[in-house]
Amino acid sequence: MSTWQEVRACAGVCGRVVLTLNLTGRHMRNLWSLSTFSRSVLNQLRRCSPQLVQIRCKGEEPGWGSKKHIAKRRIQLQTLQDTMDPQVEQQLAPLRARCKDQGDIVRQLKESGAPEVDVKREVQELKNRKKELEDMILSLSPTDTFDRAKMNDLIKRRFFYDISFAIYGGITGQYDFGPMGCDLVDNMLAEWQKHFVIQERMLKVNCSILTSEVVLKASGHVDKFADYMVKDVKTGECFRLDHLIKQHFEKKLSEKKTSQEERETINRKITLLDGMTMEEMDRIVKQYDMKSPLTGNDLSDAMEFNLMFPIYIGPSGNLKGYLRPETAQGIFVNFKRLLEYNQGKLPFACAQVGNAYRNEISPRSGLLRVREFTMAEIEHFCDPDDKTHNKFDQVANTEMMLYSACAQMDGESPRKMTISEAVRGLGLPSLGLLSTPMEVGALDFFLRDRSYILGHEPSQADVTVYKALEQPPPKHLVHASRWYHHLGSFTHNERLDFRGERSSIEQLTGGRQKGLVANETLGYYMARIQQYLLKIGINPKKLRFRQHLNNEMAHYACDCWDAECLTSYGWIECVGCADRSAYDLSQHTKGSGVKLCIERPLKEPKMVESFIAVPDKGAIGKAFKKDAKAVQEALAALSNEDAEKMDKALTETGEYDLNGYKLTRAMIPSFKREQKKVHVEEVIPSVIEPSFGIGRVFYSLLEHSFRVREDDDKRTFFSLPAVVAPIKVSVLPLSNKQEFVPFTTKLADALTELNLLVRVDDSTGSIGRRYARTDEIAIPFGVTVDFDTVNNVPHTVTLRERDSTEQVRIPIDDVPLTVKKLADGKIQWKEVTDKWPRFIAQETTK
Ligand code: AMP
Repeated sequence: MSTWQEVRACAGVCGRVVLTLNLTGRHMRNLWSLSTFSRSVLNQLRRCSPQLVQIRCKGEEPGWGSKKHIAKRRIQLQTLQDTMDPQVEQQLAPLRARCKDQGDIVRQLKESGAPEVDVKREVQELKNRKKELEDMILSLSPTDTFDRAKMNDLIKRRFFYDISFAIYGGITGQYDFGPMGCDLVDNMLAEWQKHFVIQERMLKVNCSILTSEVVLKASGHVDKFADYMVKDVKTGECFRLDHLIKQHFEKKLSEKKTSQEERETINRKITLLDGMTMEEMDRIVKQYDMKSPLTGNDLSDAMEFNLMFPIYIGPSGNLKGYLRPETAQGIFVNFKRLLEYNQGKLPFACAQVGNAYRNEISPRSGLLRVREFTMAEIEHFCDPDDKTHNKFDQVANTEMMLYSACAQMDGESPRKMTISEAVRGLGLPSLGLLSTPMEVGALDFFLRDRSYILGHEPSQADVTVYKALEQPPPKHLVHASRWYHHLGSFTHNERLDFRGERSSIEQLTGGRQKGLVANETLGYYMARIQQYLLKIGINPKKLRFRQHLNNEMAHYACDCWDAECLTSYGWIECVGCADRSAYDLSQHTKGSGVKLCIERPLKEPKMVESFIAVPDKGAIGKAFKKDAKAVQEALAALSNEDAEKMDKALTETGEYDLNGYKLTRAMIPSFKREQKKVHVEEVIPSVIEPSFGIGRVFYSLLEHSFRVREDDDKRTFFSLPAVVAPIKVSVLPLSNKQEFVPFTTKLADALTELNLLVRVDDSTGSIGRRYARTDEIAIPFGVTVDFDTVNNVPHTVTLRERDSTEQVRIPIDDVPLTVKKLADGKIQWKEVTDKWPRFIAQETTK
C-alpha cells in the first residue's frame, strides 16, 4: 500500500470532528490519480459545508516515510526531465556522461562474469553518480508549486466551467461553460480569427455537423477512425488499450524492484506506443499479464472501437450518417467552390470553427479528453511541387523548442532552434576546426539532427565528415558513431528505420530530404501557431513542438508536428500541424466522382492519350432519370485507370458500381482511345492542416496563468493577458454614498463606449476583498473611485494592475483611453507607471 492510504477531512470548529476516508484499490494506482481523487472528494465535502470543513491531506504534511519521499522524488524527476531547458541540459551533460561511463563498466563486468563483490562495488558507484545527477536536476529546476485542486476550486466557484448535467450527477467527458468560460473562449477565438483568418486573408466556411456516411466513408473515418480497447471479461468495463498499457508501465517504472534494463525496455515501448498496431499492443498485454485495473479480472482480446457517433438523418432511418469527428471534411468537400471563389488560384487557406464529436472510450483529465469539443481548423491548399511560403522570411528567426523524432528515439531532450534552421537545415561546422574534443563534441551535437532516422541525404559535408573520421569515432560521440556506421554500411539511399529494418529514404520520409521540418509552409504555420499561443498567454517554457514518429504518422502524411503544452497531466497535444499531402482531395475525388484538382499550365503543350467511356445516353436517362446527369458527369470525370477497370468489369461480370449507380454493358456499350493536345495538367493540391483543440488550449492557458499571492495563499487568481481576459476592467466605488454614483456611472459608460467589458462592483465589502474578487476572474485593470475623486478637482481615480497590484493616480478623463490601449496591448503597464504618479494613500477620507 502506498502513502495515501488515508486522507483526513477535519470538520467543525478546531478540528474536533474528524472524517477519515480510507482509499484503497483503484485509487491507489499511482500518486497522481489518488491525489486528484482525494482532492475531488474533499472539494465536494467543502462545497457542502465550506465554513466547517477544513481540509488537510495527510500526504502533504512534512515527514513522509522514505518510500513516499522516493515516489514523490521519482515523479518530480520524471516531469523535470521532460521539461529540461537546453541550457540546463548542457550543465548536466558531464554528469550524464559520468553515469553512462559507469553504466558501461557495470555492463562489462557483468558480461565478463566478474566476481560479485566487484560488480556490487561498481553498482554502488553507479548509484552514487545517479544520485548526484538527480540532485543536480532538482537543484537546477525552478520549483513549480502549481496546485490543481486549488485551481479547480476557483474554476468551479467562479463558474468558468463545470461538468454537464451536474445536478443529475454529471456525465464524464461533457462540460458546460459558465459566463467566465464563455467569454474567455470567445476572446481566444476572436484573437484566433484576427491572427489567422484576417492576417492570412483566409476564406471561411460553416458546414453541417450531421454528416452523411458517404463523406466519412470516402475520408477513411468509417473504416479507420478507431481506437483499440479491451474489456474486463466479467464486468464488461472498457479500457482504452494504449492508456491501459501506459498506466501499467508507469506503475512498473515507479516500483523500486524494476531493473534498469527493464526500465529501458519499458521506456522504449512507451515511446512507440502511439503508433503500434492492435496486434502489437495485444501482445504486450499478454506478455506482461495485464489485468483490469479496477477489479484485477482478466481482460478480453483487443478490439477496435470506431469513435464516431452514428446517427440516422430523417424519419425514415434510411440515410445513415455521423456527427462530424472533425471540421476539416466540410472544407474538403467544398474545395471546388472555394477554388472558384479564389479565382482558380493556389495557394489559399480556408478556416472553420465549430464543434466536433468523438465517442472517446475513456474520457478523462477534465477538458483534455472529452466527447464534444470545439475545433478551429485551417486547410491550406498549395501546389504539391511548391510548398514555399511567401511570408516565411517574416517568421524565419522565430525560436522554437523542437522535439524531433530522432531526439525522442534517442531519449534526448527537445532543442531550441529557429524555424529557418529547422526548415532549411543548420549551418555545417567547418571541418578545418575539428581539432579539440570540444569541436568534435560540437560536430556530434550537429549530427544529431541529421540522424539517419529522418533519412537525410548525406550532403557533401557529411561525406567529408565520414572520411575525416577514418577510424570509428570514440564511443561517447554517439551520433558521430552512428553516422559513421550508417554511412559506412548502407547505400546512400538506405537507412535503418525505427524498428531496425532497412528502408529507403523515400519510404522513411515521404520524400523529405533537407531540414527537420518538411517544408516552408508547414514551418510557417508552426511559427504562427506558436505566436498565437504565446499571445494568448501560454507559458513559452511550457510549450514545445513534437514531431510524430514515423510509425505514428498517417501513411499519407509527409510530416506532422504537435504543439504540446505542459500541464499537471504531462505534455498535452493542443494543436496538430500536418502536411497531409493530396490525400483528402484524392479520396473525395474518388468518392464523389467530382474532380477536386487544379489546372496547372504546362510549359510546353503535350499529347496525351485518354481512355473514355462512350455511354448510351438514352439507356442511362431511362435507368437513372433525375440522376442521369450526375452519372454522365461521373463518367466524364473517370481517370484512365478507372475507365480501364470499368471496361474490364463490364466485360467479365456485366456490371460496374460507379458511386452507387449500377452500370451495365448496355449503358456503356463501348470505350474509345483519344489523343489530345493539352496545355494544362490536372494536379491535386496538397493540404497543410493546423488543427486546434480549443478546449485543450483553454485548459492549458488556465493552468499556465493560475497564481497564488505570495503573502496570502487563499488569494488565487488567473493572470490572463488582457487580450483574452473575459472582463477588461472593474470600477469600484469606495463608498456607496450618493455623491459617488455620477462618477462611477460616467466612467463605466465611457469604458463601455470603447467596447470594453466592464464590471461595476459597488458592494459593501472592503476594497481589498473586492480586488481579490476581481482578480479571481482575471480582470486585469481596476479603477477605484475614492473620496479624493469626489472632493478634489481635477477629479482623479486610482488605476490598478492585477498581477503587480501597483496603483497610479490618474485623471478620471484619461482612464478610458488608457485602459483601452492597455487592453489592446498597444501600451504596457510600465508606460502607465512612468507617466502617472504612484498611488500611496487618499488625502481625504470622507
Ligand atoms: P486530431 O484530429 O485527432 O489531430 O485532433 C486535433 C486536435 O483536437 C488535437 O490537437 C486536440 O487538441 C483536439 N482533440 C482531439 N481529441 C480531443 C478530445 N477527445 N477532447 C478534447 N480535445 C481533443
